[in-house]
Amino acid sequence: MASQIPKTQKAAVIENPGTNGTVVIRNDVPVAEPGPNEILVKLEYSGLCRSEIRALLAWGVYNPIVGHEGVGTVVKAGDDCGASLLGKRVGVKWLYSACGNCSVCRRGYSNNCPRQLNTGKHVPGTLQQYVIADARYVTTRIPESLASEVVSPLLCAGLTMMGGLAKVDSHMANLGAQKDDKDIWVVISGSGGGLGHLGVQLASLKRAGRYNVIAVDSGDDKRALSLSSGAHHFVDYKQSDDDTEKAVKEITGGEGAHAVLVVSGSEDAFRTAPRLVHNMGLIVTIGLPHNDFTLPISASVCSARSLTVTGVAVDTEQRMEELLKLTASGKVTPAVEVRDFDETPAIIEQLRTDKVTGRIVVKIPE
Ligand SMILES: [Zn+2]
Ligand SMILES: [Zn+2]
Repeated sequence: MASQIPKTQKAAVIENPGTNGTVVIRNDVPVAEPGPNEILVKLEYSGLCRSEIRALLAWGVYNPIVGHEGVGTVVKAGDDCGASLLGKRVGVKWLYSACGNCSVCRRGYSNNCPRQLNTGKHVPGTLQQYVIADARYVTTRIPESLASEVVSPLLCAGLTMMGGLAKVDSHMANLGAQKDDKDIWVVISGSGGGLGHLGVQLASLKRAGRYNVIAVDSGDDKRALSLSSGAHHFVDYKQSDDDTEKAVKEITGGEGAHAVLVVSGSEDAFRTAPRLVHNMGLIVTIGLPHNDFTLPISASVCSARSLTVTGVAVDTEQRMEELLKLTASGKVTPAVEVRDFDETPAIIEQLRTDKVTGRIVVKIPE
């Protein structure tokens, strides 16, 4: 197997990150050698997450090769640690590795480790033919029935929404809600994108059997995907503008929703969020606007209305496995558009201008 691995490969590389940043397809990128605990994965598909534009625009220091929703086969192992994975299909996620020793890791939340390394940030990402991964942190239990292009968007988009919904579940449990309570309203802001539509499916009574969902986004395509994903209502924020609040209040009998998940990276979505929840409501931040943007919530209003604000960065491997099972059972159906790898620069531009409905996944050349 090792003899078939080339010395160089095709990759999508970010050049001149910043306002003039571009993505170019190159054929001369070296294939790396796996070290201790590492494996070399020959990729089949990679999803494209909107957060990649942070690397393009230099909103932080990233590796020039981004991508963190990779699915492929292990073709080489650096030591005994990865040898058992040879020939196996694995998922390469945002969490490349964690320290394993801090209090957060010890509680099982390595995705929140302060010393974590990330795929496409600290190490090269999945927009290339061969990627190095840490054998201890790849997703291995992928049901055979699931196609690789369907698994891709689950690795960041789906997993992050599992994290967001888990926060809503524990918040509602704290408020004394019962499991069979059918009267809980959740707003998903940015419902028609890669994360949003999976969040609607996971949150909705019509899919995973949890909550009534009010989807907020804009345009006919995102409306259609939000409603087919199980949303009870769709509010087009561009049509209704500051009436998003009015629409949500009307739907929820005047009180506002129990929780709002801000999936969109739009600053306006964060500004609107506190007005969409009832007193004691939960605001979950998921989208990643520019680092300078701070949450516009008055401390007094937060206290007086007893609001809770929390954030989410992907989720645990245990929830990854739950999500894979939910998808294999048909409760979750990622809306995937498979495109050619060479189209990556155009797709990144589409993401930058917010013109992607569902998830675009690129097929990695063999
Ligand atoms: Zn992502
Ligand atoms: Zn740690």
